[in-house]
Amino acid sequence: MLSKVLRLFTKDKKIESTEVDQSLSLTTKELPQILDKTGIGLIVLDSNDCITQINSVASLDLNIPKDYEGSKLVEVFNNGEIISLIKSAKVDTSAEEEIFGVEPGNKSFLVNATFDSDSSETTLVFIDITRIKKLENIRKDFIANLSHELRTPVAVIRANSESLVDGALDDKEIAQKFSNAILKNSEKLSYLLEDILNLSTIESGEYNLELAENGVSDIFKTSINSVLTNNPDVEIINNISSDIKVICDIKALSQVIDNIVENAVKYGITEGSNEIIINMKDQGSKVRFEIEDHGQGIPADQRERVFERFFRIQNNNTSLKEGTGLGLSIVKNLVNLMGGSAGNEKAYPEGTIFWFTLNKKN
Ligand code: ADP
Repeated sequence: MLSKVLRLFTKDKKIESTEVDQSLSLTTKELPQILDKTGIGLIVLDSNDCITQINSVASLDLNIPKDYEGSKLVEVFNNGEIISLIKSAKVDTSAEEEIFGVEPGNKSFLVNATFDSDSSETTLVFIDITRIKKLENIRKDFIANLSHELRTPVAVIRANSESLVDGALDDKEIAQKFSNAILKNSEKLSYLLEDILNLSTIESGEYNLELAENGVSDIFKTSINSVLTNNPDVEIINNISSDIKVICDIKALSQVIDNIVENAVKYGITEGSNEIIINMKDQGSKVRFEIEDHGQGIPADQRERVFERFFRIQNNNTSLKEGTGLGLSIVKNLVNLMGGSAGNEKAYPEGTIFWFTLNKKN
């Protein structure tokens, strides 16, 4: 039986079956251990579906103690998909299936079952595909979110241009209205594309970081000044001391500060409060920076989620404002790249404190 498993793993490697058979006496003993080293699980069942061999990976991944050798598989690992896979292999010689949600660890496996009609043995090979499946889901979610975000501006641009082409151009007032809608939505598209390009550069590891010890006071001042130019009624109290230095990339740090301060203005300014406070806390080996607003705040169960790609809180405070839901995801990635961490917490009496840490030079 194990010769079949060996063939399964050597079939692409131009090893003749005679070579496989010659090396079999050695491999039969060693194969479970070899598979252990490669992280592949192996279970061999006799004609009554009792376990005759199980390697350490399968034993750990499926929570089957090794001394269960001899027990019926269903008694120690009662998984309906595996049972029907074994049945299929007995009919078709081999069968393959992806199984999900295997405890402990909620893992996913690609399972191959091979039946040897001479010995009536069934061999099960388990390949852990948890990470691949997770990445696949992230990719699917990303495409779904992206299409959703692109659909509205593209539809608005199209509908308004069609109306202009169909005669709205002749009415100056209506033409102005439609052209404004086209402008606004094409701006939205370009922000979205800019954020996506940014994020993909960061996530693919291609962001060119120049980490060095830099003073941060000027970076905060530049960001604050640009926010104040567009929002003259906002009051920003800046408590960053001029001599503080941390390990950072100037461009990345500016992007982080711009994003958080712009969010504080966008979501944190209310009729009752136009104040944003920027603080720093020297924590020994690192410095914690805090941007505090007294707006509506973030519900406790969504504090972490705001850092997810495309996540926007479902309330009027957000839906009335333009945004891509990508800014904080970029923030977290950049801060992590610079060796720090980022988060948020409730401000008092209400509002949000967004914080991030950066390391000081040793
Ligand atoms: P965007 O601002 O483009 O929507 P972000 O990733 O920057 O995307 O922010 C994600 C969401 O987090 C926002 O849509 C908003 O709902 C929420 N948020 C961000 N900053 C604040 C804040 N200071 N106060 C309240 N909610 C905020």
